[in-house]
Amino acid sequence: MARVRVPGGILTASQVRELGATAASLGSGVIELTSRANVQVRGLSGETETEFAGRMAAAGLLPSATHERVRNILASPMAGLDGYGLIEVAPLVRELDLALCARPALSELPGRFLFAIDDGRSDMTPLGADVTLLPTPRSTSSHGDAVEGALLLAGEDSGLRVNLAGAVPAMMAAAEAFLAERSAQNSTAWRVSELNDGPARIGARIGSAAAPSGVGDTVVPGGAADVRSRHPLGLVGGRGERVAVVVMPPLGRLTSAQAHSLAAAAEAGDGEIRLTPWRGAVVPGLNREDAELWLARLAATGLVTDPLSPWTGVTACAGRPGCAKSLADVQADAARSVVLLVDPPPAGALPVHWAGCERRCGRPSGRAVVVVATGNGYRVDADGQSVHCAGIDETTATVACSRSSRPTGMPRRADVRDPPATR
Ligand code: SF4
Repeated sequence: MARVRVPGGILTASQVRELGATAASLGSGVIELTSRANVQVRGLSGETETEFAGRMAAAGLLPSATHERVRNILASPMAGLDGYGLIEVAPLVRELDLALCARPALSELPGRFLFAIDDGRSDMTPLGADVTLLPTPRSTSSHGDAVEGALLLAGEDSGLRVNLAGAVPAMMAAAEAFLAERSAQNSTAWRVSELNDGPARIGARIGSAAAPSGVGDTVVPGGAADVRSRHPLGLVGGRGERVAVVVMPPLGRLTSAQAHSLAAAAEAGDGEIRLTPWRGAVVPGLNREDAELWLARLAATGLVTDPLSPWTGVTACAGRPGCAKSLADVQADAARSVVLLVDPPPAGALPVHWAGCERRCGRPSGRAVVVVATGNGYRVDADGQSVHCAGIDETTATVACSRSSRPTGMPRRADVRDPPATR
């Protein structure tokens, strides 16, 4: 299996075409979308992996041999497309990726260390990145911009504020402070949260190392955004004529044919495809008429375009036969379960994740229903409660009941949305 990092989830149409072609000719023919908006291709042999790496490098997807494992950068996928949010994130993603790869010492970051750049709607903050930039409207710590950035460490507000020009240097300083603090604690921690008093100690080190713009009032990560702006599906647009198409491959498994269709749609728009941490794909920059056509064409390839689809919010790890640790073919069982569902997911349904063992790889952040293979059925975990189920029928009924137990406000609208009046 090969994993390719995609900073900010941002790909060109030609890169998606090449991923699709490479997956088909050298691998299993499926591109797996991950919860870090990266991609994975399985089924590579010892002979084809070198060719795969060469083709990815030629497509601009392996720019650094030394830093490939640490280029883990999430960014708000709907930034600039729907009238929510405060900033464009793509320039900061590029700046952060270049800065990260330019510092030899930061190749020592653990592969699980995660950066996130939020556009101000707080869709990244629930994902618990080690270092998150959260733009907020300028408050008392003024420095000339209309927006300033709160620096979050392990999802907690550090209290430090930066102007946007200083955001990437501050995020670099946080990463360097993590390595310094890890060394000081003689720790092998992979994440800020695994250090003793990690956020506070790193915040103190940044204070002297990066000279951020000041401290600010505490922000509540995830508390400020309209939840409808976070996980759209279908057509999404602002007040102008340009709209975006948002789709999701079932279980995050994008076939080579679907990848080529997405690339063709992107070529009719801005030439860009944004992968989301919810295993979806956004095609921005289409005019409304074209967008309707492309939405129908993409749906015809099997991509999910309707928020009322029973596939919405359902994910699964690799399972058997892809993973030797798996106790079941969880992807096949998840698909059987989705087909058994009679009703669409209710308003506010929790996400559901199927896992082949207790490691629960790819489990979504926050509240979720997790279905874990036990070897003689599945255990359904939700909100601290567990139910053991023998067969798929029983598991499906338990999942349906568990995911609708309390609302979380997942969006339901498939049509073009108007942006909020204030932005
Ligand atoms: S959760 Fe277990 S079975 Fe699934 S991919 Fe991870 S290790 Fe493999």
